[in-house]
Amino acid sequence: MQKIEMVDLRSQYERFKADIDSAIAGVISSTAFIKGPDVPLFEEELQRYLGVRNVIACANGTDALQIAMMALGLKPGDEVITTNFTFIATVEVIDLLGLKPVLVDPDPDTFNISVRALEKAITPRTRAIVPVHLFGQCADMEPIMEIAGRHGLHVIEDVAQATGAEYRFSDGTVKKAGTMGIIGCTSFFPSKNLGCYGDGGALFTDNNELATLIRSITNHGMKIRYYHDTIGVNSRLDTIQAAVLRVKLRHLDAFNEARQSAAAHYDRELSDVRGINVPVRAANSTHIFHQYTLRVEGGERNRLRECLENEGIPSMIYYPVALHMQKAYAHLGYLADDFPVTSRLTGEVLSLPMHTELSEEQLAYITGCIRSKFN
Ligand SMILES: *Cc1c(COP(=O)(O)O)cnc(C)c1O
Repeated sequence: MQKIEMVDLRSQYERFKADIDSAIAGVISSTAFIKGPDVPLFEEELQRYLGVRNVIACANGTDALQIAMMALGLKPGDEVITTNFTFIATVEVIDLLGLKPVLVDPDPDTFNISVRALEKAITPRTRAIVPVHLFGQCADMEPIMEIAGRHGLHVIEDVAQATGAEYRFSDGTVKKAGTMGIIGCTSFFPSKNLGCYGDGGALFTDNNELATLIRSITNHGMKIRYYHDTIGVNSRLDTIQAAVLRVKLRHLDAFNEARQSAAAHYDRELSDVRGINVPVRAANSTHIFHQYTLRVEGGERNRLRECLENEGIPSMIYYPVALHMQKAYAHLGYLADDFPVTSRLTGEVLSLPMHTELSEEQLAYITGCIRSKFN
């Protein structure tokens, strides 16, 4: 059996080697490393895939979030509500811009921002909400959009872990993650569902005016070369990365289906194991399994992780420390027990190997190992 990896980028590359190599070689021979033709072509192809008017590529997902907040004109002191159970990037850019991060607990089942907690956190200074579509399924966008509309708040979606996931509204409308709020922000970090061969990111919006502003911010705040109308940043997607992404976008649905079928295998073998909770599916979203994350009860999480490690099976804790307990964010002034759901989750979650190349043999080995330890 092939060695089990948390994320197996090599085997995936080997399957698409001819296409990827020729895409990269094409960029090198053109020497159009910045703003080469693959960048706008990739943007158009992703627009079509998502059903959104504008995709603006940038250097990474963290920049995408920062640029979104700059483009919306958020000002120091403005409050931005987000989940306390996410990757640090989400809250980092809020703080960097001098905005005030307001953290709320997630829902203990879906791991996504609790709509009830979110609504309670709104104050007269709240300007925006950043729902994160964690681990591959959408936050509950219908009530979030409704609450945002009622309070006049911007919704910036963090789609870094859910590119390709779909949300169904009660009227039957289906929308792709990142196309429901005013701006969607994603990452093409290599291990994401749509990943490139380095850093990359993008913003999505249906608002053409905002798209023009975002595009200028990504390129030093200029529309005409050397005329700077707004303060910007240098955040562009390399042409080589765009060329890789054009190849991989064609397979994104198949990649997500491969993850779903690995998840189905895990579900089938693990849902009856006592003390282990398989991921709960949100009612209105597809789940594209950026991560397959168990909740292990009874303080047994670390023991399970060690057992797996001894059998050559990697696993990861996303995330071991809640944002409000991170040293860098002590100034936010939260107390340890302000977020009981996050605190519980950080002690219980364990993510199993999840990628597009997991074989039946590997999956059976992983689930067999867990069953033998827990039954
Ligand atoms: C990966 C990630 C980001 C940041 O993306 P980078 O491209 O690594 O900057 C932001 N938010 C979430 C939820 C992520 O998982």
